[in-house]
Amino acid sequence: MLLAVGLGCATSSPEERALYETISALGGADRLFSVTALTLDGEGTNWNVGQDMTMDATGQTFRVTNYRRLIDLGKGRMRVQQTRTPTFAYFQGPAPQTQMVGLDGEVAYNVSPTGTATRASTQAFNERTAEFYHHPVVLARAALGGQAKFANVRVEGGERLLDITVPAAGTFTLVTDAATHLPTRIRSGGHHPNLGDVTIETTLGDYAAVSGVQVPRRMVTSVDRFKSAELKLTRTAIGSEVEDLSAPAAVREAPASGPPAVTVTAEVVAPGVWLLAGQSHHSALIELADHLVLVEAPQSEARTLAVIAKAREVVPGKPLTHLVSSHHHFDHTAGLRAAVAEGLTVITHEANTAFYKEATARPFTRQPDTLAKAPKPITVEGVGDARVLEDTARRVELYHIAGNPHGDTMLMAYLPRERVLIQADAFSPGGTYHPYAANLLQNIRTRKLRVDRIVPLHGTVVPLDELVKAVPAS
Ligand SMILES: [Zn+2]
Ligand SMILES: [Zn+2]
Repeated sequence: MLLAVGLGCATSSPEERALYETISALGGADRLFSVTALTLDGEGTNWNVGQDMTMDATGQTFRVTNYRRLIDLGKGRMRVQQTRTPTFAYFQGPAPQTQMVGLDGEVAYNVSPTGTATRASTQAFNERTAEFYHHPVVLARAALGGQAKFANVRVEGGERLLDITVPAAGTFTLVTDAATHLPTRIRSGGHHPNLGDVTIETTLGDYAAVSGVQVPRRMVTSVDRFKSAELKLTRTAIGSEVEDLSAPAAVREAPASGPPAVTVTAEVVAPGVWLLAGQSHHSALIELADHLVLVEAPQSEARTLAVIAKAREVVPGKPLTHLVSSHHHFDHTAGLRAAVAEGLTVITHEANTAFYKEATARPFTRQPDTLAKAPKPITVEGVGDARVLEDTARRVELYHIAGNPHGDTMLMAYLPRERVLIQADAFSPGGTYHPYAANLLQNIRTRKLRVDRIVPLHGTVVPLDELVKAVPAS
C-alpha cells in the first residue's frame, strides 16, 4: 500500500504516474486492494490453433459454454472450467467436453471429468500463469503489492505501454487507452513447443462497473497471430471470499510432469519397411537403394531424435536423407525442427511449405532446441497432387488426401509393390469415431490403389478391411 500512496506524487516516476492513472481508471488503489476474489462467468469460442485445415485457417472452432474462472488473488490460485463443443468433424466426436484446470501458486493441475486431479506440465504452468495475470484487476493488484517493478513506459499508436514485472511470474506489458487509461491489452512472452518464442496477448474491452471496479466483459486471447480464445463475460463478481482453490495434496507433492520417457520400437511391415512405433504417435521408415526415408517427425524433439536414432540403428549402412511430413498439425510436426537439425530434406504438401520455413526459422531463445543451438535453413519440397520417390530398390507414391475434413494439407504414402498405405489421422484403427475414414477410402478408390494393409501413424497395422468396416455403407 505504501507504493499505492506514493504513486500520484509529483516526485513519482513516469512509470508510477502511468500506473496511477490506470489504477484510478479501474477504481482506485483502495478499492482494488480490497478485492481478494474474482468470479468470471461467460461463454465464447475456442479456436483449433495448429490443428485446423491449414496452419492459418480459423474455420474449426469449439463453442464454449458454462465458462467459469475463479480467482483467489490473495493466495495466487485460480480454477477454470468450461464446456466446449466442436463445431466441426472432430476426431473425438461431436459430444460436449467438460474441462477443468487449476493453478495453485507454483502448481498447475488438471481435473478430469471424473474428478481425478493430476499435476500438469511446466508448459501448462507457464501458460496458466499468463492466463492468471492477463486480467486487468489481477495485474493491477499485483502491481500494487509492493514487490512489482515498473519500466519502459512508452506511447505506441495512441496507446500507452508499461512493463510490469511480477516476481516469480514474469514481465507483463500493460497497454492502456490514451484517453480513458483503461487497459486495452495485456501481453507477455511465452514459449510454445512448435513456435518457440511467442507473445501471448489478451485484448480487453466492453468495460462495465462492478462494485466500484471497472472490469472487461470481452477478452480475446491470441498466441502471436493465431487467435485462440474469445470470451464474452456475462457476469463478473467481485468479493472478499472465495472457495478453497488449493491443489489436492497428492497433486502438490507430485513432480511437474515433463514429457514422458520416449520409447521407439521397430516393427517390420515388409522387407525394408518398418513402423517405428511406441506411445501415441508413430513414424515409418522406408529403405531405398542408397538412402532411407522417414515418414513423420511427431510429438516432440525428444521423440523425433529417438526415432531418427532408431532408423539409423535399424539400417546402419545407409544415410537417412528425407522426411515425409504427413500434415501440418502441431502434434505431427513437433519434431520438424529436430529433423532439420539432423540434416533431413523435408517433403510435405505444398500448402505447408511456407509455414515449415517459418517454423524452422523462428526464434527459440526462451527454451533453445537443437536447431536453435545450431541453426540451419530447411530444405523443403512441396507436393501438389502427387509425387513418386523411386529407385532400383523401391517405389513410393505420395498422394494428397484430397478433400479430407481433417486437413487440407495431408499426404499419404503408397508402396505399390508391398500394397501398403502409410497415413496419419485419416484413419486411426482402434478408435470408435472415424469422421475422416470415408474420404480416405474414397481417395484410395479414386486413385485405384491396391492396398492390402493400412500402416497408421496412430494405432496398429490393419488390413484394408478394417478401414472399409469403419465407413458406413461403403
Ligand atoms: Zn492431424
Ligand atoms: Zn494425429
